[in-house]
Amino acid sequence: MANKAKFQAIRGTRDLLPPETALWNRVEQTAHAVFATYGYGEIRPPILEQKELFSRSIGAETDVVAKEMYIFGDPRLTRLERLRGTVKAEGATFWPSDVNSVDLFSMAVGKFVTALDELLNAEESESYDREQFVRRSVDLNQELAKFAQLASQGLPSEFQPQLTKSKERVETILGFFELGESLALRPEATASVCRAYIEHNMQQLPQPVKLYYMGPMFRRERPQKGRYRQFYQIGAEILGGPDAPAIDAELIEMLMTFFAKLGLEGATLDINSIGHAADNCRRGYVAKLREELIKVKDKLGADSQRRIETNPLRVLDSKLEHEQAIIATLPRIADHLCDECKAHYAAVKHDLDLRGVAYHENWRLVRGLDYYMRTTFEITARGLGSQNAVCGGGRYDGLVELLGGPPTKGIGFAIGEDRLILSLQESGKGAAPQGRDVYIAWMGEKTYATAIRAAKSLRDAGFSVELPPVEQKFGKALERASKLGARHALILGENEVASGEWTLKTLGDGSQQKLAEQALLEYLQKL
Ligand code: ATP
Ligand code: MG
Repeated sequence: MANKAKFQAIRGTRDLLPPETALWNRVEQTAHAVFATYGYGEIRPPILEQKELFSRSIGAETDVVAKEMYIFGDPRLTRLERLRGTVKAEGATFWPSDVNSVDLFSMAVGKFVTALDELLNAEESESYDREQFVRRSVDLNQELAKFAQLASQGLPSEFQPQLTKSKERVETILGFFELGESLALRPEATASVCRAYIEHNMQQLPQPVKLYYMGPMFRRERPQKGRYRQFYQIGAEILGGPDAPAIDAELIEMLMTFFAKLGLEGATLDINSIGHAADNCRRGYVAKLREELIKVKDKLGADSQRRIETNPLRVLDSKLEHEQAIIATLPRIADHLCDECKAHYAAVKHDLDLRGVAYHENWRLVRGLDYYMRTTFEITARGLGSQNAVCGGGRYDGLVELLGGPPTKGIGFAIGEDRLILSLQESGKGAAPQGRDVYIAWMGEKTYATAIRAAKSLRDAGFSVELPPVEQKFGKALERASKLGARHALILGENEVASGEWTLKTLGDGSQQKLAEQALLEYLQKL
């Protein structure tokens, strides 16, 4: 028996199927519609970016960058890496008086040089610094020529030290080529939006620039309910513009309007201000927090103990039961904000009040990175267990500059679409299976042409129509119509076609009526 391979979706990824995809479409269409009313334009950045974009923006020491990114290299660079490995292996057993050893080494380098030439002669690639590679290739060829010249002298002992030196220089030059994994599947999209803002000189557009996106993100996390390796986010960013608290408030209002339009129940908005990275503001607070944490260190778990040094703010995130009472007594950032940040926070809250947006202040809501500042928020929803955060957001005024752009203000959010969908389904807002408006029960070959015409005019009028591809007996047709959840059966027998009076059966109550084509369309449209 042939061994048939069975393929499955990769762990942490899944197929989104009908009827659920109808709900996904409803969510996405609502986002397009609501965000447009606030003047946002859609951006569709690529899913593939340079790894460096994320390590720089999210931070090399975060879990996302350190452990969760899907990274890979250009296959041609991977090949060079392998050839460099062979050079290294030959270099380790290199012996300057042994003709064989010298040959093997120079052959290995020769193969690397050939592959490198192929790479440089091929089309341009984003995955390596071409100019740098060309310069190093010149150095490498020069050194290799020197090596060959020395080797051709017949390996007398007085040349051997020079030969060894030359071999070592070849190895050093080879070591300079950056051949590692340089590409990544995006784990989030804020960095991409900022890159695009810089790349397309969007600071020359009227400020601020308001953009939104939706699409898949990738993180190698432990899959569980509401946590996947390919998941979807809907996000928005406001870049540039003034320092006005109204910008923060309007972004949050838009978000809550979106959730309300979807009928998401029990969504709660937590907000906080985390000040800015200055000694008279967050840095001062973090120092104070660390001091207090050191005093209670013994009572904390291992994770929190470690964070006292690395990132004390993250201790506030802890969900450990026995740490809660301790955390409650820690100093709060609101008491340590500088005057400007304090005023900004008060103004954001006042503006949210004006807009009728309800919020909870949550002093434990923090972000770990330096460029996050001031307004921070999170939305939690029902029915999600411990993965109950459906949206995270905040202000990040330093990010565009960190990525090489001009000083630019920034604020945004990212909604976890998978979790949003789960929560909607839990509260009964899932999509009903897609029924059909009309099932066409045609009987007799002479009716087929009429059936095709009827299907076409009904579909043109926007109705969903099932036209069976083969003739069916009356009973069988009705059975299939109700299995497909059709609301009506249009019965076309030879009598109907001859008289022009078609029979429309309403499957819900079994009632039946005869209607001419035009009258039938009008009747269905009125329903
Ligand atoms: P969490 O604490 O739940 O891991 P996060 O802080 O990593 O979330 P963000 O990076 O702020 O999340 O992303 C914003 C939103 O994206 C989250 O609130 C969540 O709804 C969603 N999200 C993040 N990671 C995943 C994932 N692996 N699977 C599904 N949704 C996710
Ligand atoms: Mg996470």
